[in-house]
Formats: sequence, structure tokens, C-alpha cells
Amino acid sequence: MAYVVPRPDLTLWERLYLPSIVGGMTITLRHMVATIFGRLFPKKIETHRSLLEMSSTGALTMQYPEEKWPMPEGYRGAPVLVMDQDGREKCVSCQLCEFVCPPRAIRITPGSITGSDPHANVEKRPREFDIDMLRCIYCGMCEEVCPEEAIFLRKEEPIFVGTSRQGMVRNKKELYRLGGVMNRPIKKWEGK
Ligand code: SF4
Ligand code: SF4
Repeated sequence: MAYVVPRPDLTLWERLYLPSIVGGMTITLRHMVATIFGRLFPKKIETHRSLLEMSSTGALTMQYPEEKWPMPEGYRGAPVLVMDQDGREKCVSCQLCEFVCPPRAIRITPGSITGSDPHANVEKRPREFDIDMLRCIYCGMCEEVCPEEAIFLRKEEPIFVGTSRQGMVRNKKELYRLGGVMNRPIKKWEGK
């Protein structure tokens, strides 16, 4: 049965909206003062010290791309695809990573290997492999679950920008470009 949440009755003072506007402006003013004094005395603003120390100007805003602050300790990196020592795609498009990805950032279209490829009709490889970086929460579960060690979180390019939602979706080609070759024990064609 649906539960209707009752709307609270606003007092006359609340209906004026003035307290909320003044409250909002006070917060803005407080940040403005902190920023100004942060520029003048960066070492003296204790609460923002770690951020200010990262910035050469003493400001709380990073001037990207001229300025690049180091990522926090716990940052794992962004997911990319890797190839094996022979330049073969390690991914077999099993879709496990797509299944476990909490925000459903991964979209895979499996494809078969056909034609003159020596491994034709033996294994699959992804026809399309997209990761929506606006959805990704950098949790690393795709890396954990992958049976082929084909997807890894890498820290090399911590910050990336896009001018559209579509521009923030990394396709297979881009993911392999960023991932490169990974010399790891698991090599799916070994012994075949
Ligand atoms: S890091 Fe997490 S959120 Fe990002 S693609 Fe992998 S499983 Fe999904
Ligand atoms: S990256 Fe790994 S888990 Fe994801 S589809 Fe490819 S082989 Fe499967």
C-alpha cells in the first residue's frame, strides 16, 4: 500500500523565503572570505591546509589543465582494457564485469572470432566495449572479477574531461590505447 508523506505546514516566516536566502548568502560570503584569506595567508587557514598546499596560487580551485594536484592516497585509478604479450585482446567478452559493475557503467557487445584468424571459432572477443566514465565509481570490482586479467584500474591519467555526455564514454579502442600491454601470467591462448 502506498504511503503518502505529509507535507509540513510552513510558518509565515518560512514562507517569506528570506531566512533561506540570507542563510545561503552567509555561506557564500564565508567561503569568499576563506578564499581571500587563503590566498593571503595559505598556511594560516588550518582547515584547508592540505588543499592549499597542493595549489601553487593558494586558491581552493584547481586551475586545470595548467595545474594538476596529486590524487588522494586511496585513489585506485580508472578502468582500462589490456592486451597480452603478443598484442592479443585478453578480454573474452564473458560479461562478468558488466554484470557486477554497481552503477552499470560497462556495456559489452560480445563478438565471435571468425575468418582467417588462427583462433577463429575457438573464443570470443568483444565487438564493442564501452565504459561510461560519468557512471563509473572507480570501485575496482570489474578488475576483481575478471577471469582473464583483461581489465585493470590504472592511475596514469587521473583526470579527464569531456564536453558532452557521449564524450565521456570510452570505447574499446580508447580503452585498449590507455591500457596497452600487460605482461601477466594469464594468457588465454597458452597451450591451445
Ligand atoms: S571501476 Fe567499478 S564502477 Fe567503474 S567500471 Fe569497474 S566495476 Fe564499474
Ligand atoms: S574484461 Fe574480463 S570480466 Fe569483463 S568481459 Fe572481458 S574477460 Fe569478462
